[in-house]
Amino acid sequence: MSGNFLDWADRIGALRALLSPCRLCPHECGVDRLSGEVGRCGVGAGAVVASAVPHFGEEPEVSGHGGSGAVFFGGCNLRCLYCQNAQISQDDSVAAGRAWTPRAIADAMGTLAARGCHNINWVSPSHVVPFAVEALALARMDGMTLPLVYNTGGFDGLRTLRLLDGVVDVWLADLRYSDDAVARDLSGAEGYVAASRAAVVEMARQVGTGNTLGPDGTILRGLIIRLLVLPNDLAGVRESLAFLRDTVGTGVRIALMSQYYPTHLAETEPLLSRRTSYGEYARVVDVADRMGFANALIQEHEAAEFYRPDFGRGDEPFRDACHFTGGARRPE
Ligand code: SF4
Repeated sequence: MSGNFLDWADRIGALRALLSPCRLCPHECGVDRLSGEVGRCGVGAGAVVASAVPHFGEEPEVSGHGGSGAVFFGGCNLRCLYCQNAQISQDDSVAAGRAWTPRAIADAMGTLAARGCHNINWVSPSHVVPFAVEALALARMDGMTLPLVYNTGGFDGLRTLRLLDGVVDVWLADLRYSDDAVARDLSGAEGYVAASRAAVVEMARQVGTGNTLGPDGTILRGLIIRLLVLPNDLAGVRESLAFLRDTVGTGVRIALMSQYYPTHLAETEPLLSRRTSYGEYARVVDVADRMGFANALIQEHEAAEFYRPDFGRGDEPFRDACHFTGGARRPE
């Protein structure tokens, strides 16, 4: 998007209008965010940044050698029982913490750029989009030119996404479930399946599925769909793959994630209380292969050991190992 101030002002104004009453995401809570009321995401009239660090554990084209400039927002519009980031996404004291000014968020993005990150990666931004875009406008006017990655659990409103056309360079989206009852029980998201699928179609409409990489192999523009394989087939990945095949096509970049481990409140749901087995994961890889998804990333089955962030570690919440490999083939 150009740095034209009026373009940004119109965009930000339209996004802010979605906050009062809030219908920014499919929950459509209807609270007045601009006056400080909070809905299901727990965040009021500003974005809280829990951490802003180079992250090396994303997909290879996202992390590259210099890391992805991750901006982790506090709060979330999903309430996943197994959330690996629950320290910041579901701790109400974090979400209700002092909001960062757009200037402070813009400066954090500038710092990540100065540290050599390949992109700015908004992690779980769905509930704070207007504030994040305001900050991005400032960063762009400062001269920050890195691609913007929108890293989402997939529960995004179409109105919101359409206002991001031309702002987001790389959509990095989960398709977590194929069954609404499971989505409701495990993530507190009514209507997740239709919402997340409509979101993916809109993202593909905006940027296509033929990803553009720079000379260093990092992504400049495109779409990556993440499919987290939960134990006991709770995610319904086969159905999500069929949906992708029939809508955006099998050329889309997908990441088949094996990194699930029981954490946060997972022990309260017996079906979530163990890791995904090797066999469960290998079957999903086979299905993707048979359906023709040739542009797939798979994770080593040990990846769960490397995705246990501790946001109490300040600037280093991750052990940060990248354990993806390309191509749809069996995991090692
Ligand atoms: S962004 Fe938050 S307050 Fe707004 S609709 Fe979604 S969950 Fe509700």
